[in-house]
Amino acid sequence: MAKRERKQIQTCDFCGRPADMSSGLIPSAVTPGIYICTECIEQVHEVIKDFHAHGTKGATGDGIDLTSIPRPKEIQQFLDQYVIGQDSAKKYLSVAVYNHYKRLAQSGKDDDVDIEKSNIIMVGPTGTGKTLLAKTIARLLDVPFTIVDATVLTQAGYVGEDIESLLTRLLQVADYDVERAEKGIVFIDEIDKIARKGDNPSITRDVSGEGVQQGLLKLLEGSIVNVPPQGGRKHPEQKMIPVDTKNILFICGGAFDGIERNIARRLNTHVVGYTNNGERVNIDRDNMLSYVAPQDLKSFGLIPEIIGRLPIVTSLEPLDRDALRRVLTEPRNAIVKQYIKLFAMDGVTLTFDDDALDLIVDKAIEYKLGARGLRSIVETVMIDPMFEIPSSDSKEFTVTSALVMEKLKKANFETNIYN
Ligand code: ADP
Repeated sequence: MAKRERKQIQTCDFCGRPADMSSGLIPSAVTPGIYICTECIEQVHEVIKDFHAHGTKGATGDGIDLTSIPRPKEIQQFLDQYVIGQDSAKKYLSVAVYNHYKRLAQSGKDDDVDIEKSNIIMVGPTGTGKTLLAKTIARLLDVPFTIVDATVLTQAGYVGEDIESLLTRLLQVADYDVERAEKGIVFIDEIDKIARKGDNPSITRDVSGEGVQQGLLKLLEGSIVNVPPQGGRKHPEQKMIPVDTKNILFICGGAFDGIERNIARRLNTHVVGYTNNGERVNIDRDNMLSYVAPQDLKSFGLIPEIIGRLPIVTSLEPLDRDALRRVLTEPRNAIVKQYIKLFAMDGVTLTFDDDALDLIVDKAIEYKLGARGLRSIVETVMIDPMFEIPSSDSKEFTVTSALVMEKLKKANFETNIYN
């Protein structure tokens, strides 16, 4: 008691944090003068959650309990809640992630069958959900996960980021726990931007192309890489951290603009629309990407060694009108749902007329903005109401097609700059 009487300011009795450094102290229900801070509560909550999920070791400890890991179908169902369509990519991703866990479960065990990792490459037009798929997978996982952009990478010694810095982000999300990072997943976006520019790479130095691919190879195939813990080259004095990439799963994504031509060329010269047994196959010319094969990535400019390390090739379809319409309203955090929630926080019921939603989709297609454009159009339409409504007495607001048109005209969307 004496100690408690001496306390000038209230502190957390768990960590000693004073009240003014905490977002709240909660008093004991039985002993006056005893407190716990909200930060400690959160920390304890995390520990308990982790314990329930994975036992005392945690998911990335030595033992991976396969029974607690979502099965491929469950992973796909989870993805379905956030991503419209793209069934083939979802299937490939679900299996790859599940196998990733299996490999981690068997890693270190004395076994003559070694499960090799199957890095993935997703080919699809921009704005069709590649990054969204990767981000959604990350919500589900309890291994460190990071998204990095291949465009910032250059060959060592040139301006830009060294390839090793890809792993810096992974280390950071793993709180510099190297063992955890070594079991993580890295999504490399815009992998097509490091394609070889010409057929003969030796004429000029291809700083951002083949050299980067060679560097990347080292990471993909599994080796010990010295990672700068703070990234970049701004801290030359920093001590490198060796990271083994053997068990890190790499998922790559890229638009591969124009790869349809390579696919068409291959299909024409090799299968000429016939299968091996002479049957005619109907090639869906509107969706050439679905026929993408490793050879096409090679003719696009990825080096064979890289392709060999990305054995799973899958494609994403362009989103048609119907898919775009669903993107607006169906995903768990659909754009329309987000605005309804924003308005509800002001006590206002927001409704979108069906023909207003149809018009938003039509305009996204007309302006060639794709799924990404849906958000900017809705944002443009909603900016005035979001400004006015909180200060008014309105309890209801309806977005009509007339309103959509009026706001787009006002914002100069209806001029021809997008065409
Ligand atoms: P990219 O294929 O270029 O990586 P993104 O995944 O970043 O495209 O998509 C951009 C935005 O478009 C997403 O944040 C999401 O709002 C929307 N979007 C794109 N594709 C889909 C999809 N298949 N389902 C739901 N939303 C999508």
